[in-house]
Amino acid sequence: MPDLQPPRPPRGRGGRGTGRGRGPSQGQGRPPTPTPAREGQGQGQGAVAGGPAWSGPLPEAGRVAVVGGGVAGLCCAQALLEAQAGVKCTLFDTGENGAGGRMATRRGGVPGDRSLNGFNHSEPWRPHDGLNTLVFDHACQFFTARAPRFQRAVEDWRAHGLVREWPGTVGSLDGGGRWAPWGGDHPPTKWVGKHGGMRGVAEGLLERLEAQYAPDFEAQRPCWVNRVKGRKDGWELFAKGRSVGTFDFLVIAHNGKCANRLVKPTGAAKTFRQLRSLKLSAIWALMVELEGVDLLPEGFEGAFLEDDATLSWVGNNTAKYGLGARDGRCCWTLFSTAAYGRRNKVPQEAVPEDVARRVKDEMLAAFYALPGVRGPAREPAAWRAQLWGAALPLNTLGEPCTMEWEKRLGVCGDWLLGSGVQDAALSGFAMAERILDRNALENAGLDRKLRPLESGATAIGSFP
Ligand SMILES: Cc1cc2nc3c(=O)[nH]c(=O)nc-3n(C[C@H](O)[C@H](O)[C@H](O)COP(=O)(O)OP(=O)(O)OC[C@H]3O[C@@H](n4cnc5c(N)ncnc54)[C@H](O)[C@@H]3O)c2cc1C
Repeated sequence: MPDLQPPRPPRGRGGRGTGRGRGPSQGQGRPPTPTPAREGQGQGQGAVAGGPAWSGPLPEAGRVAVVGGGVAGLCCAQALLEAQAGVKCTLFDTGENGAGGRMATRRGGVPGDRSLNGFNHSEPWRPHDGLNTLVFDHACQFFTARAPRFQRAVEDWRAHGLVREWPGTVGSLDGGGRWAPWGGDHPPTKWVGKHGGMRGVAEGLLERLEAQYAPDFEAQRPCWVNRVKGRKDGWELFAKGRSVGTFDFLVIAHNGKCANRLVKPTGAAKTFRQLRSLKLSAIWALMVELEGVDLLPEGFEGAFLEDDATLSWVGNNTAKYGLGARDGRCCWTLFSTAAYGRRNKVPQEAVPEDVARRVKDEMLAAFYALPGVRGPAREPAAWRAQLWGAALPLNTLGEPCTMEWEKRLGVCGDWLLGSGVQDAALSGFAMAERILDRNALENAGLDRKLRPLESGATAIGSFP
């Protein structure tokens, strides 16, 4: 039986990798070589209006800040360090429950993991009894590897015990109850986390980076970078009003309003325009522990729902991870459609309790109304409704990353190539390669317009 406990407890505040203000800018690296700022980019006292401008490639001990610890940011950091080009990298991630971003899992019984806080439940949690039985992947459900570069990465993750195959039955169910196995006659391998759910993949990647590359690699988390200031010696990053380091190159590995706000004052106008053109869906995730649900066809573990106005996906985490059901109950993740998410959008940081309850009731009613689902439709033992206000890209650039070279600023993330884990990883790798390529000291991805994602994309990402 796979173990859902991560190899080591996640590092919280105070653990290794949570250091503050210890970026490579403090006492390490070499001073950058600023060229005279161009006209209109004055060289005031430290802060440079419009941001810093340098010439030449990234210096050997160049300090790179990666803001965002999802798949894209982690893969970017990994490729930067693997190249052994002398680069130093600090990764910042805001996630309170661990890195990974939309590789997200809420789970019980893992010491230090508070991700089940906020659940509505009808009985007290039994933290240790619940270990290995309470688990909800509440964003990414599984991923596939079609591109050779990503296939190599996933093979490496498998060899290091981060991922495993999900052999369970997945398909699509239409309104008439017709079932079609997912992926056609030769479905690609479905990959999931081996330890600690999908979040465990990100945690494993981060642990490997820290183990292999410290002190050239450092993670600051949880740390929300909320301001960037251009200085003559680089980009200075701030969190809670405090400087967290100065860097030669800035990678934005997240998207949405937060990224827009961070980039706007840098004066990187072309990058800002691309970020602002991105459109994102909103999706409700209902995590719910259900009892006595029978499924037709027999025992499917995940289903894309066609024609349903409310739900786009239902997945049984307990079955996916081969866990024993707790008193006959299974942990389900239900996703709304993007249209339902749009109709029921609220501030995701402060979801009103009455809205959460209504959404829970509506999504559960839709679940029990699905052809093939039979169950007692009781009030669930435990549940939580969460809104992903910036869930999945609706448009894409179609280039793996952007680079505003004279600003020493790049962007990576799933939306550059599509809307899934493979897209995020490929974008992160490409970002690193671009930064290190001494023969490509030029802008990239800044003139092309974003185009809508093809209709093949499901409400939870583009799959083969
Ligand atoms: C509901 C849902 C279901 C999905 N299902 C699938 C699926 O089954 N298969 C699949 O392949 N893909 C799926 N996806 C998509 C997949 O999860 C994403 O494509 C992928 O995880 C994106 O990775 P990323 O690194 O680009 O971005 P993210 O995962 O969003 O990472 C960005 C990170 O940056 C951090 N951050 C943001 N702002 C700051 C800041 N200012 N300072 C510091 N840190 C910051 C965030 O906390 C986050 O950790 C799903 C997504 C959703 C929402």
